[in-house]
Amino acid sequence: MSGVLRVVLGDQLSESLSALDGLDPARDTVLLMEVMGECEYVPHHPQKIALVLSAMRHFSASLAAAGVAVRHVRLDDADNTGTLTGEVLRAVAALRPAAVVATDPGEWRVAQDMAGWEKALGLPVEIRPDGRFLCSLAWFRQWASGRRQLRMEFFYREMRRATGLLMDGDQPAGGQWNFDAQNRQRLAKGVVPPPPRRFTPDAITTEVLALVAERFGHNFGRLDGFGWPVTTVEAKAALADFITHRLPLFGDYQDAMAEGQDTLFHALLSTSLNLGLLLPGEVCAAAETAWREGQAPLNAVEGFVRQILGWREYVRGLYWLKMPGYAGLNALAADRPLPAMYWGGPTSMACMTAAIGQTERLAYAHHIQRLMVTGNFSLLAGVAPAEINRWYLAVYADAYEWVELPNTHGMAIWADGGIMASKPYAASGAYINRMSDHCRGCWHDVKAATGPRACPFNFLYWDFIARHAEKFGGNPRMAMPLNNLRKMDPGKLAAMRGEAARFLATLA
Ligand code: FAD
Ligand code: SF4
Repeated sequence: MSGVLRVVLGDQLSESLSALDGLDPARDTVLLMEVMGECEYVPHHPQKIALVLSAMRHFSASLAAAGVAVRHVRLDDADNTGTLTGEVLRAVAALRPAAVVATDPGEWRVAQDMAGWEKALGLPVEIRPDGRFLCSLAWFRQWASGRRQLRMEFFYREMRRATGLLMDGDQPAGGQWNFDAQNRQRLAKGVVPPPPRRFTPDAITTEVLALVAERFGHNFGRLDGFGWPVTTVEAKAALADFITHRLPLFGDYQDAMAEGQDTLFHALLSTSLNLGLLLPGEVCAAAETAWREGQAPLNAVEGFVRQILGWREYVRGLYWLKMPGYAGLNALAADRPLPAMYWGGPTSMACMTAAIGQTERLAYAHHIQRLMVTGNFSLLAGVAPAEINRWYLAVYADAYEWVELPNTHGMAIWADGGIMASKPYAASGAYINRMSDHCRGCWHDVKAATGPRACPFNFLYWDFIARHAEKFGGNPRMAMPLNNLRKMDPGKLAAMRGEAARFLATLA
């Protein structure tokens, strides 16, 4: 073979991938690799492994059907070396290409490996930028340079201007950048969220499910009920289903949580976006069209577009700007091991049971559950950043480090000391009670901060504020809780802190 070996990683399943630009089907070969190293660097939820492997096999099949030569290494192939580098070496030895072309990976650890390919292979290796985002890394770096603070809201406005999404001329559609004030409702009585579209496993997925059950059945998470989109066609159907049935109320209930409601009005599109089955531009454009055609209100559409054009692009830019040092930050010196309840151990807390239980069933929890329940608990309890990051990276079907790490490290547990969020997202039980109905059926009393049935979020919250009072002293956004702490009866504070110490000791 004198052509080019084109490497496509498991989360790069887009026809428009830069590694495939200029593909010559007569001479080139596309390489896809299912390797154990990628399946076990954290104990991934079985649905996540099945999703990636099935989507890879479908992508290979569609390339092959289009007449492209594909070398697809299967996890159970006898000669599989188990690593990406090992498989690229094996492919080069077998095919003798003139060069290797790849696209930037999504994770720092893989980029480190790939940086050594040229030397290991003795061949020219071209690693191209990943063009499947709305903001290039160079653009983000330029935006960030010289700024004291990297706030998402300002980045988002620049992105609205740069893309023209939801803009009327040079003004934001509807005269405002942000409609968040309308988007903080609790689920109203009688409102029944329409279930998201799920997809019946075909022969390829069924075969993968059996393989994953055999090899990874012991990992945390259930495999039954797998229904994620595994092809672009399915992902587009999932997008259309969201736009028609859930987008109109997405904004109103974006922050809501409800007992027995796993998905509410959320999109469930992150798995498809992160694999490359959908592109962010097409998703935002579909939402904007729904608004312009009068099918969804602006507060919903703007709120949704902000998640993708704003948050998703922002966290990716921040990850690549700050790695590798970012992962090692631990601004609050948190060092507690991850409590067993995160892996399905017993807990009397209804909100944690709901968030972790559905994570185990579906490999999915929506943003507020991740941020304000499991994330908030870890923040307040002082769980070590490495432990909680590993958990988030393992248990969600959409988890890749470029998006998981900033969300967990920066947003949920404030390990980066404010690079991402101007203050920690710390909250007592009152927040969870306001946004959900979990407290109604909980063994704990959300109004109590001490005593046998006190809500752990209450005493942990005040213990957290007191523990870090000095650190937060210079932060104007923490002035209110610190004032309340100062005014608090010392006996009450001591009782809450005692309660916190006893509770935290039981977690070990
Ligand atoms: P929706 O709520 O319907 O939002 C629409 C889309 O916006 C999502 O599909 C997603 O692509 C994007 N989006 C929304 N919020 C964010 C965000 N904060 N950062 C990046 N993109 C966002 N998202 C991941 O894709 N992978 C992760 O590993 C991940 N880990 C997270 C860990 C923590 C602690 C927190 C607080 C959030 C995390 N998120 C992660 C962000 C967010 O929770 C998920 O993107 C979202 O829940 C996916 O479900 P959905 O498609 O129904 O999203
Ligand atoms: Fe969660 Fe506390 Fe409410 Fe129970 S009472 S559901 S622990 S916030």
